[in-house]
Amino acid sequence: MSRRKIVAGNWKMNLDRAKGRDLALAVAARSAEAAGVDLVLCPPAAYLETVGSALGLSGSTSPSGVTLGGQTMHDKAGGAFTGEVAPPMLVDLGCRYVILGHSERRTLFGETDAIVNAKTKSALAAGLTPIVCVGETLEEREAGRTDAVVTAQIRGSLAGLSAVELEKVVVAYEPVWAIGTGKVASPQQAQEVHALIRSLLGSLASAEVAGKIRIQYGGSVKPDNAADLAVQPDIDGALVGGASLKADDFLGIARAFSG
Ligand code: PEP
Repeated sequence: MSRRKIVAGNWKMNLDRAKGRDLALAVAARSAEAAGVDLVLCPPAAYLETVGSALGLSGSTSPSGVTLGGQTMHDKAGGAFTGEVAPPMLVDLGCRYVILGHSERRTLFGETDAIVNAKTKSALAAGLTPIVCVGETLEEREAGRTDAVVTAQIRGSLAGLSAVELEKVVVAYEPVWAIGTGKVASPQQAQEVHALIRSLLGSLASAEVAGKIRIQYGGSVKPDNAADLAVQPDIDGALVGGASLKADDFLGIARAFSG
């Protein structure tokens, strides 16, 4: 089953407006280097409009093929939720994707699987592709609980989705101990969990649907370790934090998944 690769940059709460615009312009100008890979930029919400216009977005289509994503959103479509961003607002700004359940949202902002599940359903209802993040902590890995933790996160975060909805989801496996630490999972460690996730997705829908769902790896991906990850059969791209803040590094990773 050949799945189109997807490399997304999670800028987190970094850069300023001018630097964000310049980075988006640089990635857009060189996107052909990563032919065949879906490139997604996820800037802070405050800069979505600036980055969207640097990408030349009109509606959600971009001449460079680089698309825009949010880093989080509320599950409600609007209302009295001070400081939050609603799914239709992301759509309005030209977003096609939204990262949900990132480990920083789970650990620092109390997002549970039930919350991630509600957000995933609202993202799909709004026409956004959710990038649903799961992953174990170091303590959980060392206690031999990786499979149990990831299984519970997948079942909880994706509960109640139809096969048609599941097929639209992107899953990101991000071991928490590898995020921002410089400690990348070995290609074998990552592949093992990706294969587990694909078999879980199969049990939620069917092997055919699971075979179409893209599963990204995230956690200290850099241009020099991306190629070994990219050749693993169940790794369909990367969710990139730190290295997405430099066009050379982000595109270097994307090239590893190209072709
Ligand atoms: C992330 O936060 O999603 C991430 C993968 O970060 P980094 O690449 O910096 O480890």
